[in-house]
Amino acid sequence: MSKAENILTIRNLTKRFYGSLALDHVDFSLEKGEIHALIGENGAGKSTFIKILAGVYACDGGEITLDGQVVDPRTDSLSIAFVHQDPAFAEELSVGENIAFGMGYPRRRGLIDWSAVKAQAVKIYEAMEIAPLDPDRLVSTLTAPEKAILAIVRTLALAPKVLVLDEPTAALPEADSVQLFKAMRRLRSLGTSMIYVSHRLNELFGLADRVTVFRNGRHIVTEPMAGATGDGLIEHMLGRPPVKLSGADPRAETRGSAVLEVRDLTIGGRGPVSFEAQAGEILGLVGLRGGGQEAIGRAIFGALPITSGVIILNGKPLPQKRSIGDSIEFGIRLLAGDRSAESAFAGMNLVENIFVNPRIRGGSMWRWTSPAREREEARQIIDRFDVRPRREASLIDWLSGGNQQKTCLARWLNDQGDLVILEEPTSGVDIGAKLAIHKILRGYAAGGRTMLVISTDLEEVAALCDRAIIVSRGRQISELAGPELTLDQLVSHSSQGGRHAVSI
Ligand code: ADP
Ligand code: MG
Repeated sequence: MSKAENILTIRNLTKRFYGSLALDHVDFSLEKGEIHALIGENGAGKSTFIKILAGVYACDGGEITLDGQVVDPRTDSLSIAFVHQDPAFAEELSVGENIAFGMGYPRRRGLIDWSAVKAQAVKIYEAMEIAPLDPDRLVSTLTAPEKAILAIVRTLALAPKVLVLDEPTAALPEADSVQLFKAMRRLRSLGTSMIYVSHRLNELFGLADRVTVFRNGRHIVTEPMAGATGDGLIEHMLGRPPVKLSGADPRAETRGSAVLEVRDLTIGGRGPVSFEAQAGEILGLVGLRGGGQEAIGRAIFGALPITSGVIILNGKPLPQKRSIGDSIEFGIRLLAGDRSAESAFAGMNLVENIFVNPRIRGGSMWRWTSPAREREEARQIIDRFDVRPRREASLIDWLSGGNQQKTCLARWLNDQGDLVILEEPTSGVDIGAKLAIHKILRGYAAGGRTMLVISTDLEEVAALCDRAIIVSRGRQISELAGPELTLDQLVSHSSQGGRHAVSI
């Protein structure tokens, strides 16, 4: 068998930031026509690696060879295209215009030829075997998966030899990513080589040809995806075997009485939904983004008005009209999904973030606690949740996403609420922190806390929840529990009810 030819070869790539090594003599090769996954915990050096390829950073040492030529991305114009996590578009321009941006506008007698702009957009989608979007649609009206596909489609205009995708699915529900993967496979069949950075291990099986793991700025391993296992990859990423979330199967246990009962709940004309959650149960409400599961959580918390129905907590119906403050008094907590906008308080330190609401410790808004006692309690909590750095006086802004999320979780789990509603509890955190957060949640559930996990991350729901209700357009379409609650089942149930904005 002849050895596969490399389109890109990197040797000894080294990058220092203020004396610390972000990349430590990294070797990497990309074969022609392969999808090569690049994974590693936060801080492993993936983004630095990509930014060097993009010419954003100069390296401190090493050699990059593209298609047989030693190149310098800082000065050479290379046939490498990038799709970043949050691709920027001209939102108020059309799909056709956004594609034309990359290619140059077709002109006729000096004027922009608008019908050619549209035809060109349609042609590119068709070349990818994707049903074209209306080229006149404004990008601001596209759904997240439509935008993700457009981000790839428009790079095709540049006919790159190498395409680098940095977590393009981070904002996509799993079922919607499927469309993107079809587009990537099509690109591969057209000969494009791809580097694909992802946090979701499961999506790499069946997609990537090879996988490379970075850890602490070092290249740890490159192996064929076909021979890799999830646990093996996690072990390479962490540098130790993954901690199993729980020994015995907690799903087999009998549970206590219902803490939460939702009867015929409708919200803004959507619904009705009815379900119960037992003491110590982790119940998932899952669906595609915009499926209505978030509204259900928010309505239970009193942050969204209810049209009809009853919410019963510990046997007592809650008043229909409730403020968030009332809900907290009743024992309900909510961790908002959008950490930077709603849950982490920027500019405040960890103590302030943990004790942001005096009511959560059963006191009145005016109860005075000595700052020294608060600091001491915060220190214990930081220890228990393993927040790093272990400095209660750090501003939350300085922490990584995973540590910020642990701090926000600590705020709500540390007090005595009976029901905790968690929106996307590990979105944007690395795999190590994700496992740690799951373990913490399991521990609190074992202690009797009831949790409602509102999530679009099906992998997480399969790993974390005892039971899951699949929601689509505000209605429950199915329920999975016990041995049926697997990723495959979740994917197939949630895509049945889901509306696919992009079809291939
Ligand atoms: P990843 O993308 O795998 O999460 P990064 O490449 O972002 O990792 O980070 C690798 C290391 O380099 C981390 O320790 C990070 O703190 C550090 N680092 C990254 N960018 C900078 C920068 N601009 N200045 C200083 N340190 C940085
Ligand atoms: Mg990164």
